Amino acid sequence: MQRILVVEDEMQIARTLRDYLEVAGYEVTIVGDGGAALASARGEHPDLVVLDLGLPTIDGLDVARELRRTATTPIVMLTARGEESDRIVGLELGADDYLVKPFSPKELVARVRAVLRRTSGATVGAEVLRAAGVEVDLPKRRARVDGRTVDLTPTEFQLLVTMIREPGRVFTRAQLQDSLHGVAIESYDRAIDAHVKNLRRKIEPEVGHPRYVLTVHGVGYRFTDD
Ligand code: CA
Repeated sequence: MQRILVVEDEMQIARTLRDYLEVAGYEVTIVGDGGAALASARGEHPDLVVLDLGLPTIDGLDVARELRRTATTPIVMLTARGEESDRIVGLELGADDYLVKPFSPKELVARVRAVLRRTSGATVGAEVLRAAGVEVDLPKRRARVDGRTVDLTPTEFQLLVTMIREPGRVFTRAQLQDSLHGVAIESYDRAIDAHVKNLRRKIEPEVGHPRYVLTVHGVGYRFTDD
């Protein structure tokens, strides 16, 4: 049974999340502050951490930073409306997904399931990555959409590889830029937007209604996990 650590100081929310996660088949531990979260994560090695960013004593972002120093345990952040900059910092620290309060417990269960599915690593390390109708052959540096080969620049190819490795994961523009290490690129968010626009023109059936590379408003982009 997969184990989830829920870090949330509002006990009513924590209990509701626990109930839903248990019904979904997970074993759940609840802690109410950052110190207990770190102790529990180190001692019990949960499969995933649901982390509220607004915590007493140790801030949620510090907890995420500390967790990431020692482990790659997937993290789903809970953030308040208006904490957009925290959300971006959290994603850049390596959190896997986030939900903005108030959210439905069912939505949380769906996100937890999706993160666990994509971090279980079936495609990581594979030479051919496939998701939705898109296939990327790494050794051949070739991309196909619905069986049709598309011509991508090295930058577009790398952006696609980064996103398709983890369908559904939200990438900030800074993370996408980091993934281009070794590929010449001007260091501006707009440059990423321009490359994504070009990539879409080549792989999307309808550029105005992207099916594969989706925009996450105020944050960045994600490859579809449908
Ligand atoms: Ca809180």
